[in-house]
Amino acid sequence: MSVAPLKKVAVIGSGIMGSAIAYQLQRSGRAQVSVLRPVGRPYPATHCSFGWINSFAKDPQPYYHLSKEGFNAWKRLNEQLNSTLPLKTNGSLLMASKLESAESISNRLQVLREWGTTEFKELSKAELLALDSGLDPSKLDAIQYAVHLLNEGSVDPTTAVHVLLRAAKELGAKVLDAYALRLSLDENNVCNGVFCTRGTGLNDPLTEPSGVDECDTWKETYEAADAVVLAAGLGITELADEAGINLPLKGYTDGEWNRIRGVVAESEPFEKQILPYTVHLMDEPLYFHQFPSGCIKACFDFNGSPVEHMTKTQGMLDTISEYAPQFGELKLRETFIGLRVYPIDGFPVIGEPANTPNLYCAYSNGGITLAPYFAEIATKEILDGTPHDFLSEYRPTRFKGNKRTKK
Ligand SMILES: Cc1cc2nc3c(=O)[nH]c(=O)nc-3n(C[C@H](O)[C@H](O)[C@H](O)COP(=O)(O)OP(=O)(O)OC[C@H]3O[C@@H](n4cnc5c(N)ncnc54)[C@H](O)[C@@H]3O)c2cc1C
Repeated sequence: MSVAPLKKVAVIGSGIMGSAIAYQLQRSGRAQVSVLRPVGRPYPATHCSFGWINSFAKDPQPYYHLSKEGFNAWKRLNEQLNSTLPLKTNGSLLMASKLESAESISNRLQVLREWGTTEFKELSKAELLALDSGLDPSKLDAIQYAVHLLNEGSVDPTTAVHVLLRAAKELGAKVLDAYALRLSLDENNVCNGVFCTRGTGLNDPLTEPSGVDECDTWKETYEAADAVVLAAGLGITELADEAGINLPLKGYTDGEWNRIRGVVAESEPFEKQILPYTVHLMDEPLYFHQFPSGCIKACFDFNGSPVEHMTKTQGMLDTISEYAPQFGELKLRETFIGLRVYPIDGFPVIGEPANTPNLYCAYSNGGITLAPYFAEIATKEILDGTPHDFLSEYRPTRFKGNKRTKK
């Protein structure tokens, strides 16, 4: 019996999106994956991310359901990896102390009910106080409305990338120190090579400690792959643009970034696990959770942070200590200022750009939530060539201005 040859796939980028896709492809046993990622390029979004797997506020309905699938896919991924991911799946606690915030939660729950969702539990005051939430009951007295969102969770994104890359390598994938400068496309728009240079050689939090493979491997990457996955996060627009493909990001015009920043605080690790849930205090406002490593991560918002938030990160931790006094005084370990991978229309992008038969792209704001699900879909679509109907509105073909015409 003949065995189908392995499909050679180059994955450009090893943030959460690239590393999840690389792992799933390699795990399929039907692909030989090379991850092209530059050592030392700064500020990949994944490393700065808050790491919340969430769906509650996602609109419209298809995007909400897609995000819910993200949560389920994280659980499946963790099973595949023998529960080695730094993942929590206990849900989120959303709380409001002001009447208008309480009303907005209540209205949103009504919408979710209409969309057929049952994965939440409204908590009475007594239930909230009885919950082992890690929060001080006296601080919860003022809470008017609380809901436990059951299908949400959190993951330590940088460690998750390490786990995924290590697992992909153990299965035979290569992780190469290569910065993709240019895609080479032939007259039929088939990508027959990727021109690369090496990274800067600086330490990179996303690659350590899984490491990159040795050698002149950047030369190897120039050889044709059967398929090329663009998972370059903030680097995607430039790379695609140069090849005449339009994959637009918000805040990127003519090579200039109008930066959409997010500010996240991380504490020194606290040895005991206190917080089982991601907590969202609507009226502070403040979001926080504790990673399995013990560190607490916190942020004020998700819609671009004003500059002054950068000076308030210790303040975020002080507020958490007030709500969860068991932590004592939390010490700031790092402030992350990350740029968002924000598609121009705000919605995820997955699939084949128009008229480019062996290219595939995946990028999204909320990419932590979606990466494992996108990795499952990408693997099926790249290896079997059968498009997944559920994702039709998230295809890159919705962007006009693609200079690649069908031959
Ligand atoms: C502050 C902040 C908080 C966030 N919080 C959340 C959250 O709580 N929940 C959530 O779901 N999402 C959150 N997000 C969004 C989420 O972090 C991103 O959507 C996700 O990390 C994007 O992952 P990525 O792999 O696409 O991109 P990145 O993590 O940026 O990775 C891109 C990779 O491509 C590489 N690369 C770039 N150009 C090239 C090139 N030319 N050649 C080779 N490699 C290249 C980079 O070095 C990097 O390795 C947050 C984002 C920020 C900034």
